[in-house]
Amino acid sequence: MILVIKKEREQQQLDNLIAWVKSLGLNVHLSEGENCTIMGLVGDVSRVDADLVRSLEIVEAVKRISEPFKKANRKFHPQDTVITVGNAKIGGKNFTLMAGPCSVESEAQIIEIAKAVKASGAHILRGGVFKPRTSPYAFQGLREEGLKLLIKAREETGLPFVTEIMNAKHIDLFEKHVDIVQVGARNMQNFELLKELGTMSKPILLKRGLANTIEEWLMSAEYIMSEGNQNVILCERGIRTFENYTRNTLDLSAIPLIKELTHLPVIVDPSHASGLSRLVEPLSLASAGAGSDGLIIEVHNDPSKALCDGPQCIKPNQFDTLIKKLKVILPLVGKVL
Ligand code: PEP
Ligand code: MN
Repeated sequence: MILVIKKEREQQQLDNLIAWVKSLGLNVHLSEGENCTIMGLVGDVSRVDADLVRSLEIVEAVKRISEPFKKANRKFHPQDTVITVGNAKIGGKNFTLMAGPCSVESEAQIIEIAKAVKASGAHILRGGVFKPRTSPYAFQGLREEGLKLLIKAREETGLPFVTEIMNAKHIDLFEKHVDIVQVGARNMQNFELLKELGTMSKPILLKRGLANTIEEWLMSAEYIMSEGNQNVILCERGIRTFENYTRNTLDLSAIPLIKELTHLPVIVDPSHASGLSRLVEPLSLASAGAGSDGLIIEVHNDPSKALCDGPQCIKPNQFDTLIKKLKVILPLVGKVL
């Protein structure tokens, strides 16, 4: 971290600042110029509050030169993280397909969809049972009963499943039964929940928050990893912008950027990103071309009757066609399906 110290200052103020920095276990490098003084802070600056330093009277500017995330940082872990779930691998050269309905609605529904997406080549089944709905009057998910249906679908198809957790009180239930634990966009900065999930042995699929920067998203991954769980899968699901033709705006540039910044796998959710089933295929192909490690797609056997997110669900035959197109693109980016 580099501080630019104003020319107009009392020596005592500078001495106080240096003493405070040293008390944090850091070393100080001073370079006196004609118009200002540059102070380099050397050591582990992760505990220095840059905003606090910036607010000091004698400080003109603060520049961080290292990222605040460490365990998620590719600088300290150059190889891609590859996470194994059942027969599926997520990260590295692998391209992983997760597919299924927004919500589990009935045994017949989840089993029919699970069989269909498996036949097309999906590796992981998705299905929400604890649903984060904007309205308390909307369908909230089948909860524990829905989880039982996901377990049944796994028994019938062999597909591992991913489902969302909303409350830390369900951690034991999820640890016992769930293959990948999803943190939804709305909980990306529920730091107490993230810390608890860090104690789990199951991989965590961390969706990007509705209006969060890439760095905030990586800091949330850091929360989970700092408690011990290194198996975090990032999921870009669109962010809020001024555009309202789509539900959200897919931040495609986040994919290659994230690959530079972190070793963690990153997948894309084109369904929530656009909110429109007809955009799912083009956004999926673009995401694969941009280097994503996989996709999580909402697939429903009868979207017009879906209890949640019908307009963005594609049908099993559309999913099948999409996979055929992905197979053309993926070799170009060095990925295997
Ligand atoms: C979901 O995947 O069902 C979901 C609610 O997504 P998000 O948290 O991205 O809105
Ligand atoms: Mn949904």
